[in-house]
Amino acid sequence: MALIVQKYGGTSVGSIERIKEVAESVIESREKGNRLVVVLSAMAGQTDALIRLSKEVTETPDLRELDVLMATGEQASVSLFAMAVKSMGYDCCSLLGFQAAIYTDQIHGKARIKNIDADRILKELKERGIVAVAGFQGIDDGSNITTLGRGGSDTTAVALAAAIGASVCEIYTDVEGIFSADPNVCARARKLDRISYEEMLEMASLGAKVLDIRSVEFAKKFNVPIHVRSSFNRNEGTMVVAESKEMEKILVSGVVLDKNEARITVAKLPDRPGNAFRIFDPIFKAGIVVDMIVQNPSAEGRVDLTFTVTKTHFQETLKLVDEVAREIGAEKVLGDQDIAKVSIVGLGMRNHAGVASKMFETLARENINIGLISTSEIKISCVIEGKYAELAVRALHDAFGLGNGGEKN
Ligand code: ASP
Ligand code: MG
Repeated sequence: MALIVQKYGGTSVGSIERIKEVAESVIESREKGNRLVVVLSAMAGQTDALIRLSKEVTETPDLRELDVLMATGEQASVSLFAMAVKSMGYDCCSLLGFQAAIYTDQIHGKARIKNIDADRILKELKERGIVAVAGFQGIDDGSNITTLGRGGSDTTAVALAAAIGASVCEIYTDVEGIFSADPNVCARARKLDRISYEEMLEMASLGAKVLDIRSVEFAKKFNVPIHVRSSFNRNEGTMVVAESKEMEKILVSGVVLDKNEARITVAKLPDRPGNAFRIFDPIFKAGIVVDMIVQNPSAEGRVDLTFTVTKTHFQETLKLVDEVAREIGAEKVLGDQDIAKVSIVGLGMRNHAGVASKMFETLARENINIGLISTSEIKISCVIEGKYAELAVRALHDAFGLGNGGEKN
């Protein structure tokens, strides 16, 4: 008998049929004697539909009211789920964010959970055995409804698991787990049995979309084991857990591809204090996130500054940079949207030399030119020409033996 948090994403509760299936699967676990907190997302497409509705009223909806509106998506799914469970003869009740006492700061649209008062949930759990909690929403100090940002239900689930001391947070989704590469790109990609929080954080920030990155940060902080698995079958998925000695032996755990970035180069920027600040300040002020940044000397007294932003922010960034570049006398600004970022992630590279050179050698063998490189302790990313993206992923996957469980050191 265990205390378990289960979270089901939008596609897992995408129809009434699916909601009934989820209810059955929750009851199966209840039958084993477990107590369950079930966190649900809105039914697939609902949050987007609500946002579209708001845009019909105004292009710039008030953020407090948008949160009230978006929270109804999860309100619908938890109530339908609780009805389904009860109709199958089991007790259950639904709780919205405020009833579950999920307290957040006041930033509408991307609120952060500050604390959770678990009393109500624990009381209902004791009485009923199953409690459904609306994901993605909370309440601020002034009793206003807040939402946690898109994909925020994962964070609700992990935070609840930490608050009630659950033995595991199971995230049910439409894929089987975390893979060594995107199976749509690389046929030999393998489902990983286990992965560390650190690696998962890198993968999530590199563009792997299975888990919301804030939920992994939460899990790491409170040491909550996450089990990512499919809601469409009963197969074991991937455990995301604290690192162990065993995990460090594997050089590379996964290859991640991101085709959503674009590159901007400010060529022959005068090499003077303050110029980087002048280039980036308007970009940051516009709320645009810059990923890789590389600067290197070009001609005498000049530098080339290259960085990447998401493709959606490319045109806007280019405009901002063009203006400043002219003012400070840079020679020209170049942009390239036809790029891809391939990255390898693995705890093992922390204390093993030669991983980078193997990556570069592998790309060289395929005649793939590297435009930009960036590294962290457990990650190496290379920007390459867009058309080689898939080839690069497959070559790296093979080179590091990921089809067979990963090369060990
Ligand atoms: N329903 C919200 C969204 O679509 C939260 C979630 O699904 O995690 O972003
Ligand atoms: Mg999600």
